[in-house]
Amino acid sequence: MSPAEAARSSRADGALLPAASGATQGGALAPVATTIAAWPAPYTGALALTFDVDARSVMLAASPANAARASLMSHQDYGPNVGVPRLLALLGDYGLRATFFVPGATADDYPGLLDAILAAGHEVGHHGYLHESLVGVDESTERRYLELGLEALDRVGSVRPAGYRAPWWEATDRTRVLLREFGFGYDTSYFDADGPYVVPGTEGQLVELPVSWALDDWERYAFWPQVTGDGRIDRPSEVAGAWLEEIEAIHAVGGLAVLTMHPFLSGRPARAAALRGLIERCLAIPGLYVTALDEVMRLCRDGAASTGADHESSVPKGM
Ligand code: ZN
Repeated sequence: MSPAEAARSSRADGALLPAASGATQGGALAPVATTIAAWPAPYTGALALTFDVDARSVMLAASPANAARASLMSHQDYGPNVGVPRLLALLGDYGLRATFFVPGATADDYPGLLDAILAAGHEVGHHGYLHESLVGVDESTERRYLELGLEALDRVGSVRPAGYRAPWWEATDRTRVLLREFGFGYDTSYFDADGPYVVPGTEGQLVELPVSWALDDWERYAFWPQVTGDGRIDRPSEVAGAWLEEIEAIHAVGGLAVLTMHPFLSGRPARAAALRGLIERCLAIPGLYVTALDEVMRLCRDGAASTGADHESSVPKGM
């Protein structure tokens, strides 16, 4: 199921949460956005390389019957088994630190995966347990998904993630309230700004690191008949060129570009080669800080602490 299909299949009716839920107090429904990132010199913007290690989970969440589709499962296995090692080596060649969002089921199902990511010094974030869609779920269910993911990351890798990315980028009105309650430092599921901002009403404790479909590899590379994609698979060099254009423009307004990739897609040889070329171009851009999301979070929270979450003078032009 594509993200769009998932969204269409069971979209909530849009009703606001009951007041008792605390959602409005948490600010999740408040209008966006006070950006606070004043990039430390010499930086004038940032690029975060992020990888969603969905593997089998995304297909099993779409339909449990997919477990019996051995070829489809093998397509997903490529991510942890081949894509991740290749991408870790690529990142290592440039000494770059990235963020890997790992569903709990992926951590459980692929022994050694989490250890390999952590041993290379990368950040691991929360991405559900079985990549569950939050569309239409009640609060207790959303809490359970958070808990299951946390338990798996802790059990397998002793990880307490700072960051959360909603599966299919489908957060609910209550998601960021829950994230704050669970002690997360940032969310990266919203699309409402060019750069980071402190989520209103969270006393500077939760940062949003906004994303963009234009910087996601799924729409470019993913294809499986009757499952996802329309049969068009983009040429990697063209994808890298389009991404560079996006990154340069976001950097020009002092923002944060969050590049989102999936190892079962971008871990393929030609795509990884194109990513290498893109990384080299980005590292040559003066002032562009290529780093992991938890580092951006730290900069934002430091900024909030020193300037106040509503301090507009620190807002870079255009953000
Ligand atoms: Zn995902």
